[in-house]
Amino acid sequence: MTERLYLSDSYMRECEAKVLKAEGRFIELDRTVFYAQGGGQPCDTGKMATQDGQEYKVVSVKNSAEEVSHEVDHEGLRAGDKVKCVLDWEKRYKHMRMHTSAHIMAAVVHKEYGALITGNQLGEQQTRMDFDAPQFTKEKIPEVEAKANEVIARDLPVSIAFEEREKALARAELFRLKDVLPKDLKVFRILSIGDFDVQADGGTHVKSTKEIGRVKIVDMKNKGAENRRIYWELE
Ligand SMILES: [Zn+2]
Repeated sequence: MTERLYLSDSYMRECEAKVLKAEGRFIELDRTVFYAQGGGQPCDTGKMATQDGQEYKVVSVKNSAEEVSHEVDHEGLRAGDKVKCVLDWEKRYKHMRMHTSAHIMAAVVHKEYGALITGNQLGEQQTRMDFDAPQFTKEKIPEVEAKANEVIARDLPVSIAFEEREKALARAELFRLKDVLPKDLKVFRILSIGDFDVQADGGTHVKSTKEIGRVKIVDMKNKGAENRRIYWELE
């Protein structure tokens, strides 16, 4: 099983790792700093370098069962090779800021409108989030934006803890996303944003809300009778 180093430290930009399996351009490692696409967060990119200096670009990263599958730009790596993994940090850091802002936005629409999140897609430049709140209209945007920015400006610490499945599942407030619960997960990772919000979550986040900057909601669409979609950027 690949050890996902970002789960305990999202600021790790590089690591040494061993190739466990190589099938053409698809590489499994014993440990990784690369985030695999999932939970609305795009995968990381970057590179792997062997001890003799050969470089492989990491173009895509996916979860495959218990392993993390890294797609590199050309073949050549073999099981047993030692590699140094390096993230495209600028992109990852933007995702961390966006991801943390998405928690705050989700908590705000939940607290204000009782909305559950039905979908989200993080991007480097823009993020969108869907939630079910039929009473939400364009007029409410300034209020939601102001509330989110208020929380960010409090510079709350963002921390993680791990909790056993049974205990975590007993706390309904940890699961605001309407989608899947990982079936085989024995331990859940719990993310706390100061005293403002707590969620079960496997993504990458900044360590204090001030790093987000400010959110600016740039658009909103109705997606059916219940669902609303907002788009925001970071300033
Ligand atoms: Zn998260």
